Amino acid sequence: MSTTLVTGGTRGIGAAIALRLARAGHDLVLGYTRDDAAAEETRLAVEDAGVRCAVVRADLTDPDGVARLFAAAGPLTGVVNNAGATLHIGPLAETPPDVVAATVDLNLTSALLVARGAVRALGTSYGGRGGVLVNISSGAATLGAPGEYVQYAAAKAGVDALTVGLAQEVAAEGIRVVGVAPGIIRTTIHADAGEPGRVDRVGPLVPLGRAGEPHEVADAVAWLMSDEASYVTGTTLRVAGGR
Ligand code: NDP
Repeated sequence: MSTTLVTGGTRGIGAAIALRLARAGHDLVLGYTRDDAAAEETRLAVEDAGVRCAVVRADLTDPDGVARLFAAAGPLTGVVNNAGATLHIGPLAETPPDVVAATVDLNLTSALLVARGAVRALGTSYGGRGGVLVNISSGAATLGAPGEYVQYAAAKAGVDALTVGLAQEVAAEGIRVVGVAPGIIRTTIHADAGEPGRVDRVGPLVPLGRAGEPHEVADAVAWLMSDEASYVTGTTLRVAGGR
């Protein structure tokens, strides 16, 4: 039986990943911070697919929160490092310093701490059975997001480096480390950062002519976690409609 932890797993892309992995037979542990009712709704939807699902409230910008999440999750065979947010839209010089720091804290420092926890949960020399860590990056990591959120792009570029370096560090632990870099995907991340119309504005500029849907990211994650991707590690797959 395989159990996978999905951070930020109760809404948006994370919830789509949870539902898709449930269809592939994974038991699930979902992390969240905000909405107990939404977490319970997602938990029930996942269990409808016939797997077990627990939800754990833990703020991943707090190292104790990361430790609590892994302690509550128990033995794992997969981790999806998904929690993240753009937080703010605007040029770097106009972005308050605390927002710059919070963006790096959430999107890079937390991702590193979750990756550390994943190695200790999955690694064979730590008592694990091996497994897969998927880091959710962003197309912004390579595009740079000028005028919009350079600090977020820089943090996600750090996530790409995490994927490359950690994959080599832990290959002998029986762990594959892969990344998925979504383009513009229809979730509330954009409204939360202050631009509710972003998906409709940017979608038509994408080569495929539209924004992506969360389930299209989830399908890529499910493939990367499956045995069909058994020789794929240390690389990040763009799911961005050609952008
Ligand atoms: P959402 O805003 O819909 O979801 C973000 C998730 O992250 C939520 O589940 C949220 O949990 C969780 N989260 C936020 N802060 C914390 C925290 N401090 N501790 C723990 N969990 C936290 O965003 P998306 O689903 O769109 O984004 C998911 C991932 O995909 C992110 O890493 C994002 O950067 C990336 N991405 C998204 C793109 C898009 O266009 N949507 C494009 C490229 C990358 P809660 O609600 O409980 O706080």
